[in-house]
Amino acid sequence: MNADEPIAVYRARLPLARELVPYLERIDANRWYSNHGELVLELEGRLAELTAPAEARWVTSSSGTAALEAAILATAGRATPARPLALVPAYTFVATAMAVERCGYVPHFVDVNDVTWSLDADELATHPLLARAGVVVPVMAYGRGSPQAAWRRFHERTGTPVVIDGAAAFEALVDDPCGIAGTIPVTLSFHATKPFSTGEGGAVVWSDSLGCARVARALNFGFLGARSSQATGTNGKMSEYHAAVGLASLAGLARRRIAIAEAARAYGDAFAEHELDERILLWPEISSSYAIFAAESEREAQRVATALKDAGIEHRFWYGRGIHREPSLARYSGDALPNAERLATSLVGIPFCADLAAAAVERIATTVARVVIPARGAGQGRFAG
Ligand SMILES: *Cc1c(COP(=O)(O)O)cnc(C)c1O
Repeated sequence: MNADEPIAVYRARLPLARELVPYLERIDANRWYSNHGELVLELEGRLAELTAPAEARWVTSSSGTAALEAAILATAGRATPARPLALVPAYTFVATAMAVERCGYVPHFVDVNDVTWSLDADELATHPLLARAGVVVPVMAYGRGSPQAAWRRFHERTGTPVVIDGAAAFEALVDDPCGIAGTIPVTLSFHATKPFSTGEGGAVVWSDSLGCARVARALNFGFLGARSSQATGTNGKMSEYHAAVGLASLAGLARRRIAIAEAARAYGDAFAEHELDERILLWPEISSSYAIFAAESEREAQRVATALKDAGIEHRFWYGRGIHREPSLARYSGDALPNAERLATSLVGIPFCADLAAAAVERIATTVARVVIPARGAGQGRFAG
């Protein structure tokens, strides 16, 4: 690789055209293009096999955002005058708040835990606005965590409906089905930048089969098995063409996993050479869509960002400066958000993907190391929990 060739923060790699052909030919033969076709049903069945221990069903959708909307409608329904609010973390992608808005809720931003980067179920159980909240949407930031048990306890204690936004958590879900899926619905995104992709797409994963039927109904204009629309909904179905991409992606899953494990090991080693291995988060702690450099301060993060930019290496603050600062969402209320503010300005997304060249990894590690002084031992335990 050329010493100053640009390095993208992420390069998606979906199935090649020739890998899609067998599935596309099935669509040609069936002349069935959407509405729970053979390929969608096969994809949902095979995904459910991957998470069999959790005994959860998968309902696919046209996007992760559509999956969130449908799961909210299926658990909580639309907002009511008595419960107009939805409690959402400030440190997430904008989709979390936009999905609750689309279901009639007013988002209220809550701070995240400093260590898990997600909402804290125990703290939220005594939140002063809980009585006015119709739904809570915790997010598995960067696909991190095993939140099912904590939110099940929260739901039992408070009665408040919960939907977990696990957009990037496909790998975590497959590795730890019972830690992530269960009686609280979890939504995934199959966007091209997510670790399992259909181009655009998503799914709700839930052990409640009647609940899954309500999800499917919400994704199909309120129709389910009859020509009468029974509840509010949208068009959020996955098409057969997207399912074809999903089935081809599944065929390459084992190979992809090996490549990611090797790439993450090489990446960690390169940072260890500079005594910075404790400052980066990689698969399997987070989704393989990301590599995160945890700066000690906003100033250090800015030094890293500038050094990367000067070296032609792309970086991204994946959740912006917190979604409460996005112009489209800034009018909503929120708590004090010190952790979200700190994380948003100190967690730097740096390039990672399974086929990143060794020379590129070396360039990234060297560039970061030039502007960061390693503090041996200081970061120990930082990412626990
Ligand atoms: C990607 C993402 C979404 C949205 O998923 P889409 O498939 O793009 O609609 C929602 N929440 C989080 C946390 C995400 O990272």
